[in-house]
Amino acid sequence: MKTKLLKFLRKLKYDYTYGLFDLLRRREKHLLQPYTPEHLRDLTISDCISQNSLILVSADYPTEAECAEDLSALEENHAISHMAVENLRSLFEASETACAEKILFTSTYRTLAFQASIYGVNPYAAKPGESEHHSGLVADIKVDGYAQRRFIMSKTGKWMAKHAHEHGFVIRYPLWGEKRTKVDYEPWHLRFVGAPHAEIMYRMKWVLEDYLNALEKDSFFRYGDYILSAQKGSVFSFPREVETVYISENTKGGYILWSKIKKD
Ligand SMILES: [Zn+2]
Repeated sequence: MKTKLLKFLRKLKYDYTYGLFDLLRRREKHLLQPYTPEHLRDLTISDCISQNSLILVSADYPTEAECAEDLSALEENHAISHMAVENLRSLFEASETACAEKILFTSTYRTLAFQASIYGVNPYAAKPGESEHHSGLVADIKVDGYAQRRFIMSKTGKWMAKHAHEHGFVIRYPLWGEKRTKVDYEPWHLRFVGAPHAEIMYRMKWVLEDYLNALEKDSFFRYGDYILSAQKGSVFSFPREVETVYISENTKGGYILWSKIKKD
């Protein structure tokens, strides 16, 4: 009972300053509409552009190897997957313009060996293999005077919660997603998923786990100009009426494919 009360008071002090505000944000519904294509064509992975931005790394989906592809150095000791670099730059630029606070990295890509060295020392560090930092798609950030839970009390922390999705990133462990992610609120942990996924997740208040489950519920979905589909196997079918098709593993033995509808 006492620990529950302490946990609640701690939440009140930090998390609920903005986490609660985000918790109360209205969830938009039915943004992802089932879609019936007119004509389908067969595709293999080599017909698609591989962008593994939707992989899950968690206690339920641990990895035995670092799964980061094509890392790009950001600054000393920090790197992020090549596919996320441009979005990260545009995100930081927009945030620093809006908030006039310099963003600093606290952690980005981590090897399994590094995770083993901080597990048990850093109270937020997951077991080696269960940390999303192995994916190379993550940046933990802070601003001067506002690190970890206090980050949400900074201008930048609040701005990130509202705008990260506009640049392809999500707050991976929101206060409202604790039960589904099984990770306590981490306002500082940014995860790249790319467009249009970040926007859908933000607007529908879905964490990555929710999003991947939702995509498995029908063959094809439409979101704005995008068509999305979760499929298994090595030959995929996809509507003909699209531009370049992107593909990501979903870590559950399947793939997510997406593309924009061709404009006449
Ligand atoms: Zn993190």
